[in-house]
Amino acid sequence: MGDGGKELIRQAAELLKKYFGYDTFRKGQEELILAILSGQDVLGIMPTGSGKSLCYQIPALVMPGITLVVSPLISLMKDQVTALNQAGVHAAWLNSSLTPNQYARALFYAEQGRYKIIYVAPERLLTDSFLRFASRADISMVAVDESHCASQWGQDFRPGYLKIPDFIRLLPRRPVVSAFTATAARKVQEDIQVILRLRQPKVVLTGFDRENLYFEVRHPKKKKADLLEIVERHKGESGIIYCSTRKTVEEIHQFLFAGGCPAARYHAGLSDAERAGNQEDFVYDRLPVMVATNAFGMGIDKSNVRYVIHYNMPKDLESYYQEAGRAGRDGEPAECILLYGKKDVAPAQMFIESSPREDLDDVQRLTILERERERLKKMQYYCLTKDCLRAYILDYFGDQASDHCGNCSGCLNEYEEIDVTEACQAVLSCVWESRQRYGASVILDALKGRSTAKTVQYRLDHLPQFGALERWDMGLLEQAVNFLAVEGYLDITTDRYPILRLSRKGREFMEEPCLLTMKKQIVKQTMKNGAAGGKRSAGFGAGAAGVNAGGVLLDDLAGEQNALFLRLKELRMQIAREEQVPAYIVFNDKTLVQMALRQPATKAQLLEISGVGTRKLEKYGDRFLEVLNGTD
Ligand code: ADP
Ligand code: MG
Repeated sequence: MGDGGKELIRQAAELLKKYFGYDTFRKGQEELILAILSGQDVLGIMPTGSGKSLCYQIPALVMPGITLVVSPLISLMKDQVTALNQAGVHAAWLNSSLTPNQYARALFYAEQGRYKIIYVAPERLLTDSFLRFASRADISMVAVDESHCASQWGQDFRPGYLKIPDFIRLLPRRPVVSAFTATAARKVQEDIQVILRLRQPKVVLTGFDRENLYFEVRHPKKKKADLLEIVERHKGESGIIYCSTRKTVEEIHQFLFAGGCPAARYHAGLSDAERAGNQEDFVYDRLPVMVATNAFGMGIDKSNVRYVIHYNMPKDLESYYQEAGRAGRDGEPAECILLYGKKDVAPAQMFIESSPREDLDDVQRLTILERERERLKKMQYYCLTKDCLRAYILDYFGDQASDHCGNCSGCLNEYEEIDVTEACQAVLSCVWESRQRYGASVILDALKGRSTAKTVQYRLDHLPQFGALERWDMGLLEQAVNFLAVEGYLDITTDRYPILRLSRKGREFMEEPCLLTMKKQIVKQTMKNGAAGGKRSAGFGAGAAGVNAGGVLLDDLAGEQNALFLRLKELRMQIAREEQVPAYIVFNDKTLVQMALRQPATKAQLLEISGVGTRKLEKYGDRFLEVLNGTD
């Protein structure tokens, strides 16, 4: 880096502390900021919660003129603009939620140069009034947030994004164009560059790992009991529970209420007004828990979500990672727990099979159907694997990963290796002998020697394998079938009634059997009350594999500090109410935890806390010091 570069970074670091209160850049931020400030287009591909906004907000403050941020959702704009104004940066949003009068006034102020950063919906760009403004204004950058919306390959395609390059061409001077997304798919990343006509962009890809997230899959006998245990363990903290249908949302919502855990709910069956109200209750911490279908979440920047539970398995890992990724945006430890049940598979399958896909021809429809079936299978295998879940996810997205993260149930559960060679041989040969026409339950019934309507009707009771595994435990045999599928010996078809078939690997094993061992989870007696908690802190506390470097644990607060933390939270809530902003926009949890731990006594010491910038120090410093010094 040349001297010029160093100077720019020094300047950027100063702004980072002044406006946002942070001391160091996160991965990728410095590189992107430097490129933008050197006049280069950029494409930043970083996971949710990694801090993409700062990558354009800080350059916007350094560069002369105005930065336009194209953003797809009103809620996203609102959140960011509120946060910026709180931090002392002049920002505004222009979208359909403004009345014509408000809109005209905002444009008037914009023309006067009142705002450094203006958020705008893509559909606004080519309107007359906006173009008139833009042609006279000094626009130094157009930042395209959630830029995957430009690609038809993504789930969130938004035609308005296609107009961005037309708009840029109409400007008197071409500004720097920066684009940001968390999308993993290569195809989408290429699309963004082409569609937005980025000029030799600096592409920064930081990898998709979210180190602060703990991943867990459970196979509960009673999902509700597990759900309640998790929610109660997180009492007072923010969490999201995703369910696959409206009906389940209603049911769980009721169940939590009855169990004394008030929650908000969100699904497409509610009126717009109720949805908006419920979302606000959640964002403003009036209700800590949100029970929702996947209709909820896009545009939720709430940074202090401590856990995301999936009550049902989603249809693919893309959806899962996006939804689970709404936990822990503040970088603090957070949990992503999936409660898997065999019954989750069929509805996901139905959903895929019955998608209309009207605008496609037959070949396209089949190709897409096949892809979605394949994705569902990978999702199911995620639920079945006993190995490192993080490694599984990162591998799926084509990212590098070690095979042991130390912060997921795969790594932290205790297992014993058991020899399943005999069982696997019997399963595979029974599948083969019965001509690969039946599903797992029929095959296992036959192996157990059960004369059921089906085993008799299909004459499986005549097979040599009938009753061969009589002494094996059924649960263990089910695990063995899953094991064979995940390891690629068996293929479970994606039909409505899934059928077992031998893969090439399975046939090879039949010809030349070798020792097969499978991990069997050792279930501790203490599981119900606290094993999960203990497991979690084992993962976090040990900081295994460098997880959470620098992160402070809420759980680590000693009694007295905890009391202080609660008082700080109370003050934050009070301020949030006065200013009518969500609490996390005043200070996030991490900042309050730091205060409780380090107990700064002066303004200078308070400024050293991550998340306390000059501007917020001026506004709130005295009030927080009063609580910290016990003089409130
Ligand atoms: P993304 O858009 O990538 O999902 P955001 O820009 O919304 O993520 O940032 C997520 C959170 O991380 C915000 O609360 C933000 O203040 C915080 N953050 C961003 N950069 C830093 C940093 N360098 N140090 C500490 N926190 C940061
Ligand atoms: Mg963002």
